[in-house]
Amino acid sequence: MNYVIVDRGDPLSKQLAEQFHTLAAANGIHRNEEAPEIIISIGGDGTLLQAFHTYCDRIEDVAFIGVHTGHLGFYADWKADELEELVQMIAGQEPRIVRYPLAQIELETKEGTSTHLALNEFTIKGVDNTLVAQININDELFEMFRGDGIVVSTPSGSTAYNKSLGGALIHPSIESLQIAEIASINNRVYRTLGSSVVLPQHHHCDIISRKEQRLQLACDHLNMTRSDIIAIRCRVSEHKVSFARYRPFTFWNRVREAFLGYDVQ
Ligand code: NAD
Repeated sequence: MNYVIVDRGDPLSKQLAEQFHTLAAANGIHRNEEAPEIIISIGGDGTLLQAFHTYCDRIEDVAFIGVHTGHLGFYADWKADELEELVQMIAGQEPRIVRYPLAQIELETKEGTSTHLALNEFTIKGVDNTLVAQININDELFEMFRGDGIVVSTPSGSTAYNKSLGGALIHPSIESLQIAEIASINNRVYRTLGSSVVLPQHHHCDIISRKEQRLQLACDHLNMTRSDIIAIRCRVSEHKVSFARYRPFTFWNRVREAFLGYDVQ
């Protein structure tokens, strides 16, 4: 088994990474930066997002494991004091691979189209003024949007930014994308639904820029400012992200513990 570690960069995460390397070497697990099969993220959810984007181009060949250094994360189920147990499980048993849907984002400009993946969500906002955009669903006009922005989230991202916007929590076994509004303006010209919309796997939506505007775009934690966007197509990716599970870590237990405060048994 080949692995690589992505740590948050703080002293505790670095120390845990060193500890993992020592334990792994003693248990016949190989450190391999070029061709890892397992990506261990040590830090928080942000670290796992970083690990995902670092190894995005090998997404079909790798599985992620999250170790959290603070509170339980949505993608991190191992605690700092459980490294020894984790290494022994990696060395001694086959994991259950759990696969979650991803969002595919295609940015169309005069120069062509670039494609990106998001694990949590894609976000679009206006930089200087409110965002003005037309939203099509399956190539038909759905609504004219004017407001702060739009968030298109994956099921596993539904508990992140999407939740703060009042979106529904979607179980990651449901292959879908959710479109949520950030502070839409409603009048006779611009009228939005107001509630979030869940698209199934075989549907797509286009966010079409309706004026010259600087846009702030984000795939998860990765931000960029663009003035050249014509349209953005969002759909459920044909790729999925894999997590290696050595013990149960159910989605609803995570939701309960993170948001309701009850301990997972
Ligand atoms: P960050 O470290 O400030 O993370 C923000 C919080 O989101 C953290 O508490 C993290 O644990 C949590 N989080 C991340 N993914 C999650 C998930 N799938 N389910 C539940 N909670 C999750 O910022 P970052 O490291 O740059 O992370 C970027 C993420 O922050 C984005 O993907 C977005 O979802 C989230 N975010 C949330 C808001 C909001 O809720 N108002 C605003 C901006 C970004």
